[in-house]
Amino acid sequence: MPRKEAQRSCIACRKVKCKKELLRFVLAPDRVLVPDLLCKLPGRGAYVCSDNDCLRAALTKKQFSRAFKGDVQIESADSLIAQVIYIMEERIASYLSLANKAGKVVSGTDMVMQSLRKNFNNRVLLLAADISADIRQKIVLFLKINSVEHFTLFDKDRLGSLIGKSPRSVVALEGHGFVEAIKLEIERYRNFMGEVHNR
Ligand SMILES: [Zn+2]
Repeated sequence: MPRKEAQRSCIACRKVKCKKELLRFVLAPDRVLVPDLLCKLPGRGAYVCSDNDCLRAALTKKQFSRAFKGDVQIESADSLIAQVIYIMEERIASYLSLANKAGKVVSGTDMVMQSLRKNFNNRVLLLAADISADIRQKIVLFLKINSVEHFTLFDKDRLGSLIGKSPRSVVALEGHGFVEAIKLEIERYRNFMGEVHNR
């Protein structure tokens, strides 16, 4: 029988979930609350759902002080949420540049379309948030017809700079390992931002 995955409960809503579905927080020696999304920092951890509402609720209800038995230093809920978003974006960005170094990224609308026509499998596309409506429509329709997954993320400048290029409207990642890893990170990010409505 497969070993059961470690579970923890969210300190805000009390739901019990697998550890990897939750966000871990630890307390630094100066009692500052630190997000530990990779679950690597030592010490006792407190967990909340990967959802900014649960994080906000945990802060409002002072659940971190309860979990860590004493005062917890937090600048503000907004700054902690911004910190988590920043870490999540950096994770996605690092997978993208890693894939790029491994030669698994194609960029630019024409190049991406061309490469997709050769092979649709194990691909995921990132579309910049600031591309023009007609380019978006053209790409999204093409992806839909061919069942290729896509996400809207970052702006053109950032997408380009992550792969050492000028601004890019669209980048495609290939290779099973990279595609699965970045999809997981993006889903976690979207859950946290509250962009998934089918819960
Ligand atoms: Zn929760």
